[in-house]
Amino acid sequence: MVKETLKSCKSEIVSESAKSINPLSKLHETLKTAIVDEPPVSVRDGGMISPGFDKDLDTLKESISVDKKWIAALQTTERRRTGIKSLKVGFNRVFGYYIEITKSNLNLVPEEYQRKQTLVNAERFITPELKEKEITVLAGEERINKLEYEIYESLRQKVSEASGILRQNSTAVATVDVLVSLADVAVTRRYTRPKITEDTRIKIVDGRHAALEVALGPNEFVPNSIEIGDGGSTLIIITGPNMAGKSTWMRQCAIIVLLAQMGSFVPAKSAEIGLVDRIFTRVGAFDDLTARQSTFMVEMIETANILNNATDRSLVILDEIGRGTSTFDGMALAWAVAERIVQMKTRSLFATHFHQLTDMASQYHGVKNVHTLAKESGDTIVFLHKVVDGGTDKSYGIHVAALAGVPDEVVKRANQILLKIEKENRVTVGDATPDFKSTEQSSLESLVVEDPIVERVKHMDLDRTTPVDALVKLKELQEEAKKRRE
Ligand code: ADP
Repeated sequence: MVKETLKSCKSEIVSESAKSINPLSKLHETLKTAIVDEPPVSVRDGGMISPGFDKDLDTLKESISVDKKWIAALQTTERRRTGIKSLKVGFNRVFGYYIEITKSNLNLVPEEYQRKQTLVNAERFITPELKEKEITVLAGEERINKLEYEIYESLRQKVSEASGILRQNSTAVATVDVLVSLADVAVTRRYTRPKITEDTRIKIVDGRHAALEVALGPNEFVPNSIEIGDGGSTLIIITGPNMAGKSTWMRQCAIIVLLAQMGSFVPAKSAEIGLVDRIFTRVGAFDDLTARQSTFMVEMIETANILNNATDRSLVILDEIGRGTSTFDGMALAWAVAERIVQMKTRSLFATHFHQLTDMASQYHGVKNVHTLAKESGDTIVFLHKVVDGGTDKSYGIHVAALAGVPDEVVKRANQILLKIEKENRVTVGDATPDFKSTEQSSLESLVVEDPIVERVKHMDLDRTTPVDALVKLKELQEEAKKRRE
């Protein structure tokens, strides 16, 4: 496929890059004839230069070849001569070449054998002739290795001299590689050509997440659209249950913008991209515990960076600001950050579980709500992964906990607590100066069962209790209270 794309590719950059590649034919030919097909790991032990490349090297190799052959054949000739079938010829770095004879065959050892080393079951010998050949071969090999290394060095020098051209070549190959890969992906994954404009509107119709659509397989990914900027909304607040596709939607928008601006086609039905100067993201929980920074600290550092550096041409993605701290802190921060972003007119996508933030749409120009669709069916919930207009106030967090295998009793208890909190209050955020009544807190307190000692005091009928009885009761309660402390 890549080859076909390349063939049909009419891009000037690709053909220019391909043309600018210098094949360095002479160097290529030299290296090809100089180095053996499978060179050794070490460059100091010889064996890497092909025969025929260097005359001196060939002569040297030839000069020791007769003696090497003689040594190689020694085992066979000596076995035949002495009649010792187990006779072995070996080599080690300390003793050089030797002839090894097992102890049981020592009586057959010829006179000219000279003992060199004794082992548990064998003796090692040399002969004057073997020693002589060894000296020639070892000295020859040393010279050969030295010469091979010198040849290798000169080759290296030649490559080094061509390093400038090699670098140019690698840049050209990289350019072709990137462009051809992008072209290939564009064709195979049905990408479209984005329209890049100088205004601030980003309009993506049926966009897809470049990586997730491949991971999920054909027709599994649900495409989603977005329209932001250019006088319309600059802040889109996305709410919806966990696992419903909020992060995916925000990330796919950023990826499409990035792809478009690097010159690629994009995974969408159509895309109009008003140029972006930077993409800022605050996504995922990136713990930097080694740098002694808590998750929340990292979240805030990233948020600060966005607020301090984003411009009205940037694209900002904020995934759940403020969840790393208490509900009220978090909500206050999320609200204040969102407010600032509206003022900055930075195109921003903001995912949040603080449903109160959806009220901003009615209070500020340029804020729009969207949510991910989920369908309740009986006790379960189906995520449709479709992003539609409007806010939602359902998190389905407990459903997701149940799906994840949190024990039934805990899920049931969470549902009870949720019901109670929902019945008793709703935290409301007013206008630009939000008023967080601690009703959520008080409702949680109301779930705590009253202390039994207090209960009993409350139910004492003092009209019918004598002072003595009252004292006795008081002592009883005091002892009970003391016991509890212990
Ligand atoms: P959220 O941010 O709402 O918690 P994610 O964006 O992390 O949800 O999505 C959770 C999972 O849902 C993804 O890993 C993916 O498997 C699936 N998903 C998300 N968006 C889509 C989509 N548009 N089409 C199909 N599956 C999706």
